[in-house]
Amino acid sequence: MPAPSLRIRNTTGDGDDGWAILYRARDMKAAGLPVADLTIGEHDIGTDAAILTEMDRAARSGHTGYASVPGISALRDSVAARITSQTGVTTTRDNILITPGGQAALFAAHHAACNDGDRALMIDPYYATYPGTIRAVGAVPVAVASRAEDGFQPDATALAAAAPGAASLLINSPNNPTGVVYGDATLAGIAQVAHDHDLWVISDEVYDTQIWSGTHQSIRALPGMSDRTLVVGSLSKSHAMTGSRIGWLCGPPEMIGHLTNLATNTTYGVPGYIQDAALYALSMGKAFEAQVAAPFRRRREMVLDMLAGQNLIRAIPPDGAMYVMLDIRATGLSGDAFASALLDAENIAVMPGESFGQAAAGHLRVALTLPDDQFRPAFARLLAFAARQAA
Ligand code: PLP
Repeated sequence: MPAPSLRIRNTTGDGDDGWAILYRARDMKAAGLPVADLTIGEHDIGTDAAILTEMDRAARSGHTGYASVPGISALRDSVAARITSQTGVTTTRDNILITPGGQAALFAAHHAACNDGDRALMIDPYYATYPGTIRAVGAVPVAVASRAEDGFQPDATALAAAAPGAASLLINSPNNPTGVVYGDATLAGIAQVAHDHDLWVISDEVYDTQIWSGTHQSIRALPGMSDRTLVVGSLSKSHAMTGSRIGWLCGPPEMIGHLTNLATNTTYGVPGYIQDAALYALSMGKAFEAQVAAPFRRRREMVLDMLAGQNLIRAIPPDGAMYVMLDIRATGLSGDAFASALLDAENIAVMPGESFGQAAAGHLRVALTLPDDQFRPAFARLLAFAARQAA
């Protein structure tokens, strides 16, 4: 076989892709073992029946051919109106490219912002696909640590030190894996670094409907930022539509034009019946989004209550997103060792912090994604396991 390109071989990097526990849990489930899977960010409910009915109606009424590549106008208008009302920044369909999910939008944004070999900043801890996404476009991921001691809020001074010569800065609030929602001072600091070093800011806001305390603010709304920000959005988390692969990029019209050319030469758009279903899903409004988010809010409370009964494991109460990060350093185990031993001993799968970068070493990310009656006993067993390790 001829050699695969350096770029494709480089996409995963030297180590594994961070998902080793997830793959092992899947193998165990396939072998018939009962595994409590708290790894990936996927709801325990499916896509709402009314959205599926609209998908079916759209497909049967003929929306099965090639769809318009930047996205159907009605959906681009609807996403633009949603962003305008959420942020106060006037946004039109010319600012919007519909993509097959937020992940494709992250790839496209970096492809458009970075030249070969450019440094692309991201904040550690980071969502596990970020380094591979950046390497996949030929850029070089540069992780800038945020510290557990600072509640994992990004540090503008550290960003400024890493910024000279970089092309882009990827941020994520509400944050996966930490649950942190960036405050006003954090966002202002990031915006200043972006101005000072002429960076594109790629702002991953796919968890914007999952806010448990405080408020979510899009950095695109800060003065002077709409011309240098590409916002990644998705219906995966907000509408439990992970498998439909539907999201968007919001940015300056000139950039959206370039990105439309990229889409023409890569995805050729998103199926029309999925876009119709997405349009319908957005029309269901905020009450529906709150209903999809409610179980995570409830389980977050459950976790915080259960943690209050012990003092071995600590958590920074998440302000948003569907995860809790646990600081397990007091057990003496690394996140990798703890997660692996927990899976072996208890058939409970959680993500090691190390899958999200070195700043999250000694932590675990627990996805709040099992029904309450399964989640509570699994989390109790996790705490009991931790106590045994410490003893
Ligand atoms: N960004 C973050 C932070 C995520 O956690 C995820 C998925 O878990 C994505 C992007 C990708 O989401 P999707 O491609 O399903 O829209």
